[in-house]
Formats: sequence, C-alpha cells, structure tokens
Amino acid sequence: MTGPDIPESHPRHESLLTRHRIEDGVDRGLTSRQGLIAQGRGEAFDYLLGEETIPSADAAERAAAAHLLSADHPVISVNGNVAALAPGETVALAEATGADIEINLFNRTDERIERIAEHFRNYGAEGIKGLAADARIPGLAHERAKVDADGIAAADVVLVPLEDGDRAAALAEMGKTEVVVDLNPLSRSARTAAVPVVDNLLRAVPNMTAHAEDLAGADPDTLGSIVESFDADAALSAAEDRIRNL
Ligand code: ATP
Ligand code: MG
Repeated sequence: MTGPDIPESHPRHESLLTRHRIEDGVDRGLTSRQGLIAQGRGEAFDYLLGEETIPSADAAERAAAAHLLSADHPVISVNGNVAALAPGETVALAEATGADIEINLFNRTDERIERIAEHFRNYGAEGIKGLAADARIPGLAHERAKVDADGIAAADVVLVPLEDGDRAAALAEMGKTEVVVDLNPLSRSARTAAVPVVDNLLRAVPNMTAHAEDLAGADPDTLGSIVESFDADAALSAAEDRIRNL
C-alpha cells in the first residue's frame, strides 16, 4: 500500500494513513466520494473510543469468527471503503473462515464493480461474487437491492463491514445472521446486528482472522457456546460507556 511520508512517531499516524488510503481509493475509482464522508464519521467515533480494540469489541470479533466458522454459507460483503482500507486483510479472513467475498455498492456502477473485483483479485481473491446481481433483497430500492443468488441471497451468515442502516435492516428481515463492523454504536447498522463489532475495520478484520485461526479446530459445541454467550446489547452498552468514560 503506498502512503505519504507520515513519520511513525506522529501521534495521528494511523489515522492519517487511513485517510490517505481512502483518498487513494477515490483516485483509483474504487471508493465513492460518499466514502470520504463515511470515513470522517468513523474517525470521530474511533477517536472517542481511544483508537483501540476495547475488550467488548474483541469478544464480538471472537463471536463473529465463531459465527462465520459454523455457518453453512458465510459471505463477506465488501464496498469501496473496504476495498480501499483492508483488501488483503479481507481476503485473509475469507480464507480463514471459508467465506465468499461479494461486492455490494451503495452507488453501484458496473465499472466500479469490475474495478473492485480486479483489485481483490490482485490480493489473491478467487470467485468474487456480486457481478451476476441476479437476486434482490426485498424492501430496498432497485440498485441497492442487487445481490447474487448464490451469494448473499443464499447466505446464512453475512459480515457487513460499514453497511448503511437500511440495508442492514433489510438483510436482518430476510433472516440472515448479521455481523456488522461499525465504529458508531448508535448507528442503525450496529443496532440491527446479531453481532455488532464496534471497532475500526483495520483492527477488526485481522483480529477476526486471528480468532478464526485460533478456533479452526474447535468442535461445533465450542463454537456454539461462544455464539450463545455473546450479548449484543451488552457490547453496544460497553462501547457507549467507553465513549462516556474515556
Ligand atoms: P445508520 O446506520 O445510522 O443508518 P448510515 O449507515 O447512514 O447510518 P453511513 O455514514 O453510511 O451512515 O455509515 C458509515 C458508518 O461506517 C458510520 O457509522 C461510521 O462510523 C462507520 N465507519 C466508517 N469508517 C469506518 C472504519 N474504518 N471502521 C469501522 N467503521 C467505520
Ligand atoms: Mg450505518
């Protein structure tokens, strides 16, 4: 990943690097300009959370890994921000959990879909979904409803990093188990998720992979008890407490 010359000692090193990745994503036609705004919102919440993975987020990441590993058909939904921020990390998570990667864009154009698919292929992804767009999520406007019949439409567990609230709610309505990565514990996306991961995508994805690797040989009962013991409301409250008491 190319980057501007930001000294590592700079107190905002990570955040400046992240901004640069999103800018670069826009320049390369991967990320929409709307993506810059989403990034700004995320950054504000990351600042309030202390820019670290809080214990409740780590527990959510472990529960997310257990869900993905025990799913029949797990899918990781990706958009232009995910493509810009964590392409290699996302491919590694897909490999560690046996999940498919499906491109899903708020502002869908065939050109941007193809660019993002090529970008993920350069990071080693195979069988990228989201190009066929031969099924629909009920209750959403045309373009945003498009999914693959053998991808998200058929999935039992869907990881939706940085999803907008409407779509997160529509997927939950379809009966999907949703894992949402969103730094805003008050967002509708986080609130509709079975597993809200209130953490920066850049930390959350590698940590989910580490948990998935750790749980790779676990039996179904062990995975089931991790899934069962996770409490979504408690995780959201813990994140809010952290923001208030940092
Ligand atoms: P709502 O969920 O309340 O309907 P929204 O989905 O319309 O809101 P957006 O701005 O589309 O709001 O959502 C972007 C979300 O992504 C924000 O909540 C922001 O905190 C989050 N976000 C942005 N960048 C990151 C990141 N790097 N890691 C995790 N979350 C991020
Ligand atoms: Mg949201």
